[in-house]
Amino acid sequence: MTLPMIPQANPGAGYRALKAEIDAAVARGLESGWYILGAEGRAFEAEYAAWLGTARAVGCANGTDALALALRALGIGPGCAVATVSHTAVATVAAIEMVGAVPVLIDIEPALYTMDPDEFAAVLADPPAGLPPIKAVIPVHLYGQAADLGPIIAAAARHGAAVIEDCSQAHGATQDGRKLGTFTEVSTFSLYPTKNLGALGDGGVVATNDAARADLIAALRQYGWRSHYVSTEVGVNSRLDEIQAAILRVKLTHLDAHNARRQAIAAAYDAALPQALRPARRSGASHVFHQYVLRLPDRGVVQARLRELGIGSGVHYPMPVHLQPAYQGRIAMGPAGCRASAEASQQVLSLPMYPELTDDEVGRVCAGLRTVLG
Ligand SMILES: *Cc1c(COP(=O)(O)O)cnc(C)c1O
Repeated sequence: MTLPMIPQANPGAGYRALKAEIDAAVARGLESGWYILGAEGRAFEAEYAAWLGTARAVGCANGTDALALALRALGIGPGCAVATVSHTAVATVAAIEMVGAVPVLIDIEPALYTMDPDEFAAVLADPPAGLPPIKAVIPVHLYGQAADLGPIIAAAARHGAAVIEDCSQAHGATQDGRKLGTFTEVSTFSLYPTKNLGALGDGGVVATNDAARADLIAALRQYGWRSHYVSTEVGVNSRLDEIQAAILRVKLTHLDAHNARRQAIAAAYDAALPQALRPARRSGASHVFHQYVLRLPDRGVVQARLRELGIGSGVHYPMPVHLQPAYQGRIAMGPAGCRASAEASQQVLSLPMYPELTDDEVGRVCAGLRTVLG
């Protein structure tokens, strides 16, 4: 008998596990007769800010828009360059170009997959020729673990550049006991279905302690309105709808338990793997395992053997942004030329990771890891 395939991600299982609560929330949203920017959205924003520990959280349509709104709220646009990484969801770089700014891509620390703070500081001190002034930096907390914020924030401060944490893969992760998304003036979260906090559709959040900036972001997400029908800013339409907000309120109450379950699954995978293959942990960081990522020179072989054992896996991401057809040859980079990013993209492999994995399924993955890699 062949066992059913264990998928790498499973947002449907996330719905089924909370079906009664989510169905009730959706029914409440439908019955309310108010579908955009109402009581559910306001409640979700207040609950998310309270959970995160910021004064304000502003919902929007997705994590890409959250980054673009954050950049706009910091005055970043045409005539500015923004530093980020190439080994990320392409959305991070797309958001920079959406606001008319110019990306400059910094390489990663190879074992931790996040921005190399030394190269970032070097690029600030000696930027690539022809680049507009670097006015902001977006460190990405990739896979659920903190980027090296201390030296990145310090270097940015010396040059008067703003810092935006892209926390789209790190809801609930901490550094030195403090939640990611609370270290910088503005931070952003995607609520895409597979993220640690996922809607059943699109959603995003911008978080900040600055009330005036939050009000500006709230205006920008709806035509630049501060009051109805009066645009005081040139805005966009990027709203979080009421039904998604109602679903997210349910899911938020389970987020800490879901993150703990991800960490328990990661501990089981660690125990099944040789020490050298276990994902590196940053000192002082608590990792929430949006992804559990192995580094394998023979990735294709391992992926095929796991598949034969009914174990799904994925690649995040197979091509760094600077090598994608839409970006190749026209994006500024630091002196490392994003070499470590390109290498990582050839070798990373993400194992099944979602809170609804059963103990049996985790056991099957662990047995498969011992067979293939032990
Ligand atoms: C998912 C993600 C985004 C984009 O979010 P969307 O909601 O898909 O627009 C941005 N940055 C990172 C690091 C992500 O993982």
